[in-house]
Amino acid sequence: MRISEIFTTIQGEGLLTGVPSLFIRVSGCNLRCVWCDTPYTSWQPEGEEMELAALLRHVEAEPVYRHIVLTGGEPMLFGEVVELTAALRAMDRHITVETAGTVWQPVECDLMSISPKLRNSTPWDREGGRYAASHERLRYRPDVLSRLVTEYDYQLKFVVTEPGDLEEIRKIASALHAKPERVLLMPEGISADRLHERAAWLVELCKENGYRFCPRLHVLLYGNRRGV
Ligand code: SF4
Repeated sequence: MRISEIFTTIQGEGLLTGVPSLFIRVSGCNLRCVWCDTPYTSWQPEGEEMELAALLRHVEAEPVYRHIVLTGGEPMLFGEVVELTAALRAMDRHITVETAGTVWQPVECDLMSISPKLRNSTPWDREGGRYAASHERLRYRPDVLSRLVTEYDYQLKFVVTEPGDLEEIRKIASALHAKPERVLLMPEGISADRLHERAAWLVELCKENGYRFCPRLHVLLYGNRRGV
């Protein structure tokens, strides 16, 4: 599996915000979100192939970090992630898998952190729109989402760019019979100013719908940097 980075930090998003965590970021993605904040795993994927044993050595070297986050890119694209999560389970680690919910793998997982991609993610104008059609075809897989939500403890984390996104979110959450408190709305943005600006109206929409507001703590603490 190609790995773009391994680092320790606190979880910045979702139900486990603030928990010290070791992140393993896989390189490679089947989508091309226009606002992707890790383009080095999607638009211009980079990283080195790593064997399972080498990954586990990183985990063993950080015994304080009991929470392991597999992220990307799209970790569920890679069959090796099944073996990796089984090994992490044997090491008694808490496992979060961060996925867009378009691919199924029978992983071991304590929190399936699913971020379904809305219409606002489609790159119509980026790189001449050459990824737009495939992105649009792949980004929403209700069958995969339904299986993930049914078989795992989950959170549904949506990236919101404008109030109009709420209609699409309500439809997806309702089709999945998702508990409102497991639906997290996160402002799109990689600067504190942009996040504050969007948080002002997004919090109100959360209150109206019973959804959870999701800050991006790592951006607020460290800015838009890698490895934090
Ligand atoms: S699914 Fe995630 S990694 Fe892939 S393009 Fe979208 S934001 Fe980037």
